[in-house]
Amino acid sequence: MKDKLIIVSGGMDSVTLLHQEKENIKKALSFFYGQKHLKELEFAKKNCESLGVPHEVIDLSQLLPMLRSNLLQGGDDIPEGHYEDESQKKTVVPFRNGMMLSIACAVAASSGCTGVLIGVHSGDHAIYPDCRPNFIASMSQSMAMGTYEHIMIAAPYIYLSKRAIGLIGHGLGIDFGRNTWTCYKGGEYHCGKCGACTERKEALQGFDNTNYEDVLEREMQEEETNETPRRVTKEMASDAGDPDLEGTPF
Ligand SMILES: [Zn+2]
Repeated sequence: MKDKLIIVSGGMDSVTLLHQEKENIKKALSFFYGQKHLKELEFAKKNCESLGVPHEVIDLSQLLPMLRSNLLQGGDDIPEGHYEDESQKKTVVPFRNGMMLSIACAVAASSGCTGVLIGVHSGDHAIYPDCRPNFIASMSQSMAMGTYEHIMIAAPYIYLSKRAIGLIGHGLGIDFGRNTWTCYKGGEYHCGKCGACTERKEALQGFDNTNYEDVLEREMQEEETNETPRRVTKEMASDAGDPDLEGTPF
């Protein structure tokens, strides 16, 4: 029964949840809160369209001047390193999930949905307080008490690692390289160095078809020495006349 609303960022976790729960999803919401780039939202839209799930983007950008985070426009540079490092705290957007869940709850209650799906996972717990199990449980309780429909949160990945989600998505046949975006920076390719990219590499190890800038650069240097190309470059895709491959991460 299609009676769930899902929050989709366009990253690998929410996209996997979208595909896994597609039979139960009535509506999808994404949020623009002043992220440095819109790549994730494009991937959210692409996946919803491919599954025939109605999708809307809520614009919260008026809040931007009042929020503090390196993830947002006007903030400092995105730190490189591991996702769980102290430096990654700079990427926290204060109460982001709290804001998104409140709005999703109101939309769910207004559109005949009984619950809100969110793809938070155990790797988020270290630095994002509003991704932790006690917050999600408490927020769910508040939403149920605050609506006639008793809207509740379903966070099926909350105790799973990102690696486990990667394996679920791989099992579902999701093309992560073409259909999801993780990098905090909005370059042509995933940077391969920020906390989000580092975690993505670990999660998709063995079946990662993402084009990472750092890997591409390394391979180009190797190719210059070996003169044996091992990977299709953007220029080669363009020469082959495949418009699908031009300008997209593949
Ligand atoms: Zn990155």
